[in-house]
Amino acid sequence: MAQPQYLTGDAAAIDDFIGQFDVFLIDCDGVLWSGDHVFEGIVETLELLRSKGKKVVFVTNNSTKARPDYQRKFTALGIPSDVEEIFGSAYSSAIYISRILKLEAPKNKVYVLGESGIETELRTENVSFIGGTDPNFRRDMTPEDWQGIADGSLLDPDVGCVLAGLDFHVNYLKLSHAYQYLRRGAVFLATNVDSTFPMNHNFFPGAGSIGIPLINMTGQQPVALGKPSQAMMDAIEGKFKLDRARTCMVGDRLDTDIKFGIEGRLGGTLAVLTGVNNKADWEAKDAVAVPAFYVNSLSDLRGASR
Ligand code: PLP
Ligand code: CA
Repeated sequence: MAQPQYLTGDAAAIDDFIGQFDVFLIDCDGVLWSGDHVFEGIVETLELLRSKGKKVVFVTNNSTKARPDYQRKFTALGIPSDVEEIFGSAYSSAIYISRILKLEAPKNKVYVLGESGIETELRTENVSFIGGTDPNFRRDMTPEDWQGIADGSLLDPDVGCVLAGLDFHVNYLKLSHAYQYLRRGAVFLATNVDSTFPMNHNFFPGAGSIGIPLINMTGQQPVALGKPSQAMMDAIEGKFKLDRARTCMVGDRLDTDIKFGIEGRLGGTLAVLTGVNNKADWEAKDAVAVPAFYVNSLSDLRGASR
């Protein structure tokens, strides 16, 4: 497979690269920051792209935060942003439910495995939901639960969809409810299918790993709404009216970001080496995706103006 062009340190190539695109879809963790540590030169690099008239859209698979939560993170880290530039998998899921799925009464409620970010985005789209952060679901099973779930008396007859995101309080009670809704024909969605996510120089179970027990129970696969799902790309294209040929996806992960850009037939993909994947990963025979370009760090794009 053709190997990517390395841009770091090559000012002419960087100028040419930037000139090919009007829109940069930029992954967050591993590209702009790692946890709460912003990489050197990121603010200036985003400023440079904007000063050249480029549109930037921040695309994250982190479903635990709604767009306003994410913007607060940008502000806290000193990175200028607009809430309308942020596109997360919780938002992607909420607009898929409200605009594509269009659940109709009486089956118009969503059963949520996830955190408040999902709830905020569902509320903004006027989608009713149960589960999520409700303390009634964050506890051990009682004998009444076993009976009421089995006979359906504890189930909400209006649930028409199960949405699995990252839930830090996932438990047997929640999984039992989700399973019963899926058995009754609820649509199965996942905010994203990342097996793990990076944190504190290690990895933790990702949203994809929350949905796996449900896949095992039902034999069904969810419709995924984060990178690399093209449902997310279609929603981004619709919102920003972008020209795919003039759009570049920037990210640190081959299986989410780079695959997302390639399958979306974008004009380009740029890998950065500040996150999860490295050169050996795309040079491997069974590489999941190979970027068109790579830099050591996003801030190497400043090479164009230095
Ligand atoms: N999911 C969670 C819960 C995360 O915390 C992160 C990164 O912090 C991710 C997914 C990956 O996010 P991104 O797509 O911005 O790399
Ligand atoms: Ca990332």
